[in-house]
Amino acid sequence: MAQSPEFPELKFVKPRSWKSGRARSGQPTIIVIHDTEGSEGRDAAENGAAYDARRTDGVSTHFFVDADSCVQCVLTKDTAHHAKSEGNIRGIGFELCGRASQTQAQWLDGGLDLRLAAKYVAKCCRKWNIPARKLTVAQLRAGEKGICAHDDVSKAWHQTDHTDPGRNFPWTQFLAMVQAELNPPEEDDMPTAKEIAQAVWNTDNIVPAPWPVRTDDNPYWAPGTSMHHGLGHAIEANRRIAELAVKVDGMVTIIATLADALKAGGSLDTAAVLAKLDGLAKQVAQLSAERDELNRKLAAAYGA
Ligand SMILES: [Zn+2]
Repeated sequence: MAQSPEFPELKFVKPRSWKSGRARSGQPTIIVIHDTEGSEGRDAAENGAAYDARRTDGVSTHFFVDADSCVQCVLTKDTAHHAKSEGNIRGIGFELCGRASQTQAQWLDGGLDLRLAAKYVAKCCRKWNIPARKLTVAQLRAGEKGICAHDDVSKAWHQTDHTDPGRNFPWTQFLAMVQAELNPPEEDDMPTAKEIAQAVWNTDNIVPAPWPVRTDDNPYWAPGTSMHHGLGHAIEANRRIAELAVKVDGMVTIIATLADALKAGGSLDTAAVLAKLDGLAKQVAQLSAERDELNRKLAAAYGA
């Protein structure tokens, strides 16, 4: 089977009947959901596309979706013949393999890959700037952009009497799937309110400080075997300072993050968090004082 020039991961099977380009606006403004009134099975999309390549009654669609595949038949910039004149000029047709008599549970039972259909509906929405919303018949007639049923097209222009995909089609869930494809959850590094709370209540998990690393500007470094008495103390003090610095940094970060979470109105117990913030601030001050004191001693002993 040929490969779709528009979505290279899809098979492409040209129907007998279709038209290059689009009348009027020159681009699609709606997505029309149909069902095939046939099997949901794994070969249903391929069989549907093969039938459209043979049939002589002037019917076609842009996509077929079945249990495991999406087959493209007409490029979305071109006109397929699935919803009579008004629907065809405006619409990108999706034939979902299944029947209008299906219950909502049957639509959602995975027999047809609705998520796969939602994925390509979303791609079309993005490509043609079509909002992922279900249009009413009035909106459709007014020329608004969005997603609708073949049934809505029938009611808007009375050029057909088709009522697919039926009254039990799970529009809410389907639109949510399309939205999820368009706006995948952000994978940022921002901790959740729960993670913040856990971090604050368990400050022991702040990363332990590494031993000071030898650098040219670290006057306290000396190889262990040859260090004399005074230098041993300096190294220990330096280690402690590095440890304190890491603890202070960790706490400052937690305090800032907590403050942001509070401002954003998370579900944290505000009074408890404020008390904890206060405690953390005091610890930071205490650790900073200890660090300063150690620095002073080192400077006095070694003139650094
Ligand atoms: Zn239809």
